[in-house]
Amino acid sequence: MTCDVCGHEARQVPTADSRVQEAWVCPYSHAWTELGAHPGLVSRSSDAPAHMRWERADAAELPTGTSHAYGYFGTTLCDMQQEGVVPSPYRWVPDWDDACPECREAAIVIDGRWPVDGRGEKRERLCPVPRVHRQGPALPARSYAG
Ligand SMILES: [Zn+2]
Ligand SMILES: [Zn+2]
Repeated sequence: MTCDVCGHEARQVPTADSRVQEAWVCPYSHAWTELGAHPGLVSRSSDAPAHMRWERADAAELPTGTSHAYGYFGTTLCDMQQEGVVPSPYRWVPDWDDACPECREAAIVIDGRWPVDGRGEKRERLCPVPRVHRQGPALPARSYAG
Protein backbone atom coordinates (compact mmCIF):
# COMPACT_ATOMS: atom_id res chain seq x y z
CA MET A 1 0.00 0.00 0.00
CA THR A 2 1.28 3.46 -0.83
CA CYS A 3 1.22 5.94 1.99
CA ASP A 4 -1.31 8.66 1.24
CA VAL A 5 0.60 11.17 3.35
CA CYS A 6 4.02 11.04 1.74
CA GLY A 7 3.81 8.54 -1.12
CA HIS A 8 6.32 6.08 0.28
CA GLU A 9 5.56 2.40 0.40
CA ALA A 10 3.87 1.43 3.66
CA ARG A 11 4.66 -1.83 5.39
CA GLN A 12 2.15 -4.25 6.78
CA VAL A 13 2.56 -4.79 10.50
CA PRO A 14 1.08 -7.49 12.69
CA THR A 15 -1.96 -6.56 14.71
CA ALA A 16 -3.35 -8.26 17.78
CA ASP A 17 -6.66 -6.47 17.49
CA SER A 18 -9.33 -8.82 16.13
CA ARG A 19 -11.31 -5.84 14.86
CA VAL A 20 -8.46 -5.01 12.52
CA GLN A 21 -7.88 -7.03 9.38
CA GLU A 22 -4.72 -5.38 8.17
CA ALA A 23 -2.51 -2.73 9.66
CA TRP A 24 -0.08 -0.72 7.56
CA VAL A 25 2.52 1.73 8.71
CA CYS A 26 4.62 4.01 6.57
CA PRO A 27 8.28 3.82 7.62
CA TYR A 28 8.86 7.35 6.38
CA SER A 29 6.05 9.44 7.83
CA HIS A 30 4.87 6.83 10.34
CA ALA A 31 1.30 7.38 9.24
CA TRP A 32 -0.76 4.28 9.87
CA THR A 33 -3.80 2.81 8.19
CA GLU A 34 -5.98 0.03 9.53
CA LEU A 35 -8.44 -1.94 7.49
CA GLY A 36 -11.28 -3.02 9.72
CA ALA A 37 -12.87 -6.41 9.93
CA HIS A 38 -15.79 -4.99 7.98
CA PRO A 39 -15.21 -4.22 4.33
CA GLY A 40 -14.77 -0.54 3.70
CA LEU A 41 -13.97 0.28 7.30
CA VAL A 42 -10.70 2.14 7.24
CA SER A 43 -9.14 4.04 10.07
CA ARG A 44 -6.12 6.24 9.81
CA SER A 45 -3.92 8.22 12.06
CA SER A 46 -4.41 11.91 11.63
CA ASP A 47 -1.77 14.50 12.00
CA ALA A 48 -1.09 15.13 15.65
CA PRO A 49 1.46 17.12 17.56
CA ALA A 50 4.44 15.12 18.72
CA HIS A 51 3.29 14.91 22.32
CA MET A 52 0.04 13.27 21.28
CA ARG A 53 1.29 11.03 18.54
CA TRP A 54 3.58 8.52 20.16
CA GLU A 55 3.21 5.71 22.60
CA ARG A 56 5.91 4.86 25.03
CA ALA A 57 8.02 1.85 24.12
CA ASP A 58 8.09 -1.05 26.50
CA ALA A 59 10.64 -3.83 26.49
CA ALA A 60 12.27 -6.01 29.10
CA GLU A 61 15.79 -5.03 28.10
CA LEU A 62 15.27 -1.31 27.83
CA PRO A 63 17.19 0.51 30.55
CA THR A 64 14.99 2.39 32.98
CA GLY A 65 15.31 6.12 33.46
CA THR A 66 14.85 6.98 29.80
CA SER A 67 11.56 6.81 27.99
CA HIS A 68 11.63 5.89 24.32
CA ALA A 69 8.86 6.27 21.79
CA TYR A 70 7.48 3.18 20.13
CA GLY A 71 8.49 3.13 16.48
CA TYR A 72 5.72 0.78 15.22
CA PHE A 73 7.98 -1.91 13.77
CA GLY A 74 8.85 -3.63 17.02
CA THR A 75 11.56 -1.06 17.58
CA THR A 76 12.08 2.09 19.52
CA LEU A 77 11.72 5.22 17.44
CA CYS A 78 15.48 5.84 17.76
CA ASP A 79 16.23 2.25 16.68
CA MET A 80 18.18 1.68 19.84
CA GLN A 81 16.39 -1.56 20.43
CA GLN A 82 15.42 -3.53 17.38
CA GLU A 83 13.30 -6.33 18.70
CA GLY A 84 10.95 -7.27 21.46
CA VAL A 85 9.65 -3.74 21.77
CA VAL A 86 5.94 -3.29 22.31
CA PRO A 87 3.82 -0.17 22.71
CA SER A 88 2.77 0.68 26.23
CA PRO A 89 -0.62 2.18 27.08
CA TYR A 90 1.13 5.42 27.98
CA ARG A 91 1.92 8.40 25.87
CA TRP A 92 5.46 9.34 25.10
CA VAL A 93 5.92 13.05 25.63
CA PRO A 94 9.04 14.55 24.05
CA ASP A 95 9.07 17.47 26.48
CA TRP A 96 9.54 15.29 29.51
CA ASP A 97 12.97 15.21 31.10
CA ASP A 98 13.37 11.47 30.73
CA ALA A 99 12.51 11.42 27.01
CA CYS A 100 15.22 9.89 24.85
CA PRO A 101 16.92 12.68 22.87
CA GLU A 102 17.28 10.52 19.75
CA CYS A 103 13.61 9.62 19.83
CA ARG A 104 12.84 13.32 20.22
CA GLU A 105 14.96 14.13 17.21
CA ALA A 106 13.35 11.38 15.13
CA ALA A 107 9.89 12.62 16.11
CA ILE A 108 10.75 16.10 14.87
CA VAL A 109 12.10 14.73 11.59
CA ILE A 110 9.02 12.57 11.04
CA ASP A 111 6.73 15.46 11.90
CA GLY A 112 8.44 17.47 9.15
CA ARG A 113 7.56 14.79 6.60
CA TRP A 114 3.84 15.44 6.89
CA PRO A 115 2.75 17.94 4.29
CA VAL A 116 2.02 21.28 5.87
CA ASP A 117 -1.32 21.68 4.08
CA GLY A 118 -2.56 18.43 5.60
CA ARG A 119 -1.93 19.50 9.17
CA GLY A 120 -4.69 19.58 11.69
CA GLU A 121 -7.09 17.65 9.52
CA LYS A 122 -8.19 14.11 9.35
CA ARG A 123 -6.92 12.20 6.37
CA GLU A 124 -9.91 12.09 4.15
CA ARG A 125 -9.20 9.58 1.48
CA LEU A 126 -11.47 6.74 2.44
CA CYS A 127 -10.15 3.88 0.37
CA PRO A 128 -6.66 2.48 0.52
CA VAL A 129 -4.62 3.72 -2.38
CA PRO A 130 -4.04 0.92 -4.89
CA ARG A 131 -0.58 0.05 -6.03
CA VAL A 132 -1.14 1.29 -9.59
CA HIS A 133 -0.45 4.87 -10.50
CA ARG A 134 -3.47 7.05 -10.51
CA GLN A 135 -4.51 8.32 -13.89
CA GLY A 136 -7.21 10.55 -15.25
CA PRO A 137 -8.63 13.76 -13.87
CA ALA A 138 -7.61 15.09 -10.51
CA LEU A 139 -9.71 14.25 -7.51
CA PRO A 140 -12.76 16.47 -7.06
CA ALA A 141 -12.58 19.10 -4.38
CA ARG A 142 -12.96 17.56 -0.99
CA SER A 143 -16.26 17.64 0.76
CA TYR A 144 -17.02 17.19 4.39
CA ALA A 145 -19.58 14.59 5.23
CA GLY A 146 -20.11 15.67 8.77
ZN1 LIG B 1 4.15 8.11 4.65
ZN1 LIG C 1 14.93 6.41 22.00
